[in-house]
Amino acid sequence: MTAEVTAGSGVQVSVLGLGAMGGALAGALVRSGHPTTVWNRSAGKADELVARGAKSAATAGEAVQASPLVIVCLLDHASVHEVLDPLSDELAGRTLINVTTTSPAQSREFAEWAARAGVAYLDGGIMAVPPMIGLPESSILYSGSADVFDQYKPLLDVWGTSTYFGEDAGLASLYDLALLAGMYVMFAGFMHGAAMVAPAGVTAGEFAARAAPWLTAMTGALQGLAEVVDGGDYTVAGQQSLEFSGLGDLLAASADQGVSTEVVAMVQRLVQRQIDAGHGEEGFARIIESIKRPEATWERATESPVRPGRGSGS
Ligand code: NDP
Repeated sequence: MTAEVTAGSGVQVSVLGLGAMGGALAGALVRSGHPTTVWNRSAGKADELVARGAKSAATAGEAVQASPLVIVCLLDHASVHEVLDPLSDELAGRTLINVTTTSPAQSREFAEWAARAGVAYLDGGIMAVPPMIGLPESSILYSGSADVFDQYKPLLDVWGTSTYFGEDAGLASLYDLALLAGMYVMFAGFMHGAAMVAPAGVTAGEFAARAAPWLTAMTGALQGLAEVVDGGDYTVAGQQSLEFSGLGDLLAASADQGVSTEVVAMVQRLVQRQIDAGHGEEGFARIIESIKRPEATWERATESPVRPGRGSGS
């Protein structure tokens, strides 16, 4: 069961899950003229969409049967199984695009479930918040069936910029979570800085006004770090060495301000492991080796923030 997608023509589509994100996705489809059927576990969330032209299905099964293309945006992997496991017969022969956040292993597991059920499957990872849906800055990552991605790309583009990573259904999720890792650590770094300056009477808002342009400028360094990593030579001239990365000052200043040193200490441990291994003269990119190969020293390093021989008494 397929549906043609051509510019200006609508595709019959059903959306399961009308939370903050599912509601935004369904709203964008309705806005762009796709005949959209919606379903949500709890009542009431479809009302606004129905007022704008969507059809409301009384059950998930009814929603599935309404369209050849089914979009699912539920809370997590378990809720997707809970809703779709009883509907495998109804889904057979249809196309399913699952944009619920899941781990790569869960995405692959669901792709296998879909294959067994005779469902064409595309997995998605949404790099956006609901108000961004429909804007080009909204980036949605996909992996799984290339045929599904190619066929429905005009519809997917309604939500933002669509990028396909390959047939392995776990790849979109892998990229999604890897990007989120960068985001969370950056946010934690911002919070650390805000906590450091707070005792000096600086508000978080004032600090954010400084931090945003600084961090934006620093993203310009990512490509250079990546080139060092890909080149495999961390001794490249012109870089600040690990020995002189200034993290000691940062830790001391944090302690002086009476704030937790956990965020900075985490980076310092990664650096220290490379210094201990004799790479102190190499550049910051070298810490990827601490991250890539944690098994030998990670447990020891995390057990005690004070390294043996440096005041631990051992
Ligand atoms: P919400 O908490 O707003 O909505 C969750 C949705 O899942 C609701 O429709 C809820 O139904 C439904 N649900 C939860 N458990 C079940 C269940 N057991 N059976 C049936 N339905 C269930 O979450 P979001 O809409 O924000 O997020 C949805 C997905 O999108 C998540 O995987 C999230 O990680 C992802 N995402 C969200 C982003 C965001 O900024 N919001 C950003 C990027 C990805 P009910 O209304 O009945 O509770």
